[in-house]
Amino acid sequence: MLKIRNLHAYYGAIEALKGVDLEVPDGKMCCIIGANGAGKTTLLKSISGMVRHSGEILWNDQDITKAGPGKVNKAGIIHVPEGRLTFPGLTVYQNLEVGTISWHGFISNKKYDKEIEEVFTLFPKLRERRDQMAWSLSGGEQQMLAIGRGLMGRPKLLMLDEPSMGLAPLIVEELFKKIVEINKLGISVLLIEQNARLALKVSDYAYILEQGQIKFHGESQALSNDPRLISAYLGSF
Ligand code: ATP
Repeated sequence: MLKIRNLHAYYGAIEALKGVDLEVPDGKMCCIIGANGAGKTTLLKSISGMVRHSGEILWNDQDITKAGPGKVNKAGIIHVPEGRLTFPGLTVYQNLEVGTISWHGFISNKKYDKEIEEVFTLFPKLRERRDQMAWSLSGGEQQMLAIGRGLMGRPKLLMLDEPSMGLAPLIVEELFKKIVEINKLGISVLLIEQNARLALKVSDYAYILEQGQIKFHGESQALSNDPRLISAYLGSF
């Protein structure tokens, strides 16, 4: 379980998070909803140890507040960043291999066939494109690759930063089915999503972030019927 207490994060003099409390219970999917600049990415970066922050971040009762990205990955928290950031000049297979570095050390030998097979079973398109360069993939396939690379890191918690960004609605629908499948495998998910309706539909719990603070939180189903959210985030049903 991930437990965050009183998290503050800073970019120089800018305070991007102002006392955030958040929990991701084991096996659950939680989402963070909020407008541009609310601090969603900063929250994931704080957990991954990529921005200056204070407060308390506990992972299965272990204090990882001051852990760097390598240690956080090794503990089983894998961050799939906004914008996918796959390696364009590497093949699909090589991109997936990179994902094993967090637990396998240097890419040295082929002891990750099982993980590769799991990713290819989940995303058959990646199997078909195995030897293609990442730059030649469609946006949806690149996002699958980014998530697949994350899965290669053997996550217990997968953090996804706006996987739907820039994708057509049908592709987003397909992708979110896969995210639900991943969660059903027992992997906890912390998902950032601007499309509040979609996020509430797939997740168990939701946190609404506004200007660095949690404005509402609760079970997603209950929040999707909450009039305060409907007027501010969901439009009229
Ligand atoms: P988006 O949906 O646009 O990605 P977000 O909710 O993820 O938004 P963050 O990217 O976390 O928001 O940004 C939170 C605040 O921190 C914003 O005011 C942003 O301008 C600021 N910020 C983010 N990155 C930096 C940076 N590298 N340097 C200075 N300020 C930053």
